[in-house]
Amino acid sequence: MEEVASALLRLQEIDLDLMRAKAQLEAMPQAAKLISASQAKKKLASELKRAIGARKDIEIDIADLQDQHAAYERERLEVKASIDESSRTYKEVQALDAKLSSLAKKLEKIEFNLGPLLDKLEAAKASEDKLRAIAARLLAEEESLKKSFSEDSADIQARIADLNAERVTVVSEITEDIIARYDAAAKRFGGLAVERLHGNVPSTCRVKLQEEAYRKLSRGPVISECPYCHRILVVEEL
Ligand SMILES: [Zn+2]
Repeated sequence: MEEVASALLRLQEIDLDLMRAKAQLEAMPQAAKLISASQAKKKLASELKRAIGARKDIEIDIADLQDQHAAYERERLEVKASIDESSRTYKEVQALDAKLSSLAKKLEKIEFNLGPLLDKLEAAKASEDKLRAIAARLLAEEESLKKSFSEDSADIQARIADLNAERVTVVSEITEDIIARYDAAAKRFGGLAVERLHGNVPSTCRVKLQEEAYRKLSRGPVISECPYCHRILVVEEL
């Protein structure tokens, strides 16, 4: 058999082995757990983002109220100082007193609104802390899953590395156009791209060739195409 034909058959074996190895990795118990851990992490990250946003909104509202409070308080102290000035008339003092009581009401209203907001902030911080604690626990669980996955899969990973290294060599022995045909057929046939013709029955589709087709293939190149299933056909003997 031509070298390129045996390289092609070896390429298919390598790729089928790689598919099996990858399926073994996916079937490991840690693999499914890692997927759900990563989904849980994503969900938690968005919950945490929302919680942080909510906490910041409350902080902004509180800061606004505190700024207003400070401004009214400054004004109150100014008015208070100005009442005590000796030159004030009775009417002026009365007006300033009214101003003072209006400022006191405004301050009281702000304080009244501030109380529940501070409680809300405490609650928001508590739920944010809770989410952070869950996130830390999830991360630790994920780390230990990854560790156990890489320990338990060491043999499979080593086999995959060997197969990939051999694959590079094997591919270098095959022409680009045949590799392109192989890639397309592998995709179409789930990895079973190449079949061998041994006698007059192709090894994969197993549809017995008509006499005429068989004669034509036997006289043709070693690497051909199955007239039935259209896989790449390696003609092994004449
Ligand atoms: Zn076929």
